[in-house]
Parts: sequence; structure tokens; C-alpha cells
Amino acid sequence: MFATCRLCQSDICQEDESHDHIYQLCPYPLLVAARRISDEQLETYPRVSRLELILKIIRLVHDLRSQNRSQKLDVLSAQCS
Ligand SMILES: [Zn+2]
Repeated sequence: MFATCRLCQSDICQEDESHDHIYQLCPYPLLVAARRISDEQLETYPRVSRLELILKIIRLVHDLRSQNRSQKLDVLSAQCS
């Protein structure tokens, strides 16, 4: 046995089970309520596919790099003038 859940007293046999227990399986009423509220809030956000998410991240990184580049150019042009 790896551990015992302090909330519901279930035995947890392996370390990787503890994550699943807390975030998905533990029947402790407050955790069940918190998971339900969390699921409801997640449902209010538009679903994004993995491809859309990857494209958004690429765009964000590109924007940040462009921003950095233009800031460096501003610094260089200020130093040169
Ligand atoms: Zn538990």
C-alpha cells in the first residue's frame, strides 16, 4: 500500500493512483462538488482542438519574438542616434 486518502480513507496502492484518486475518483463530498463546479466552468469555455491550440501557441511565440525584435531595434536605434 502506498498511502491512505485522508478524506475518504481509501487505500492508494501506487503513486500514480494518488493523482487520479484526488482529481477523478475520491468520493469525498467536497471534492465531488469541487470537480462538478470545475467541470461546469470548463464547459463554459469554447472547445479548442489540439491543432487550434498549437496554432495559437505558435502565433503567440511569433508575436512575442516580433515584439522582442522591435524592442531590440528601438534600443539599437536609440543608441545610434
Ligand atoms: Zn479519497
